[in-house]
Amino acid sequence: MISPTKKRIALIAHDNRKKDLLEWVKENADSLINHELCGTGTTSSIIAKNTGLKVKAYKSGPLGGDQEIGALISDNGIDLLIFFWDPLTSQPHDPDVKALLRIAVLYDIPTAMNKTGADYLLQSGLIDKEYERHDMQK
Ligand code: PGA
Repeated sequence: MISPTKKRIALIAHDNRKKDLLEWVKENADSLINHELCGTGTTSSIIAKNTGLKVKAYKSGPLGGDQEIGALISDNGIDLLIFFWDPLTSQPHDPDVKALLRIAVLYDIPTAMNKTGADYLLQSGLIDKEYERHDMQK
């Protein structure tokens, strides 16, 4: 599976981490504008409203949004996952969260779960190059 030069980036944050993700997106808007952004419902609308970036919104996470992002990954529709999940609060949709992380590993999707990880991914020399991923299906 090939990740194109313009990356399709999924943005998701649990409620206690939305502020952190929004800050990160603001800090990196100049770079993110060169990519295609999408995310779960509430995260997407907060980011779009506060940054002006275009973010395609799927359903809210607890209503199936994580599963939609997972389905996109399995259809080769996502190249990078930025998922600020909350390690201190239990989530009603925890099985969906776990399933999404599983699918991301299965399809070899680079995944950041905190600010430093997201910085490393976005500042990688590979971010604007085509890249052949190695999913675990072979
Ligand atoms: P939300 O979903 O962006 O709709 O809040 C995120 C999540 O809880 O998985």
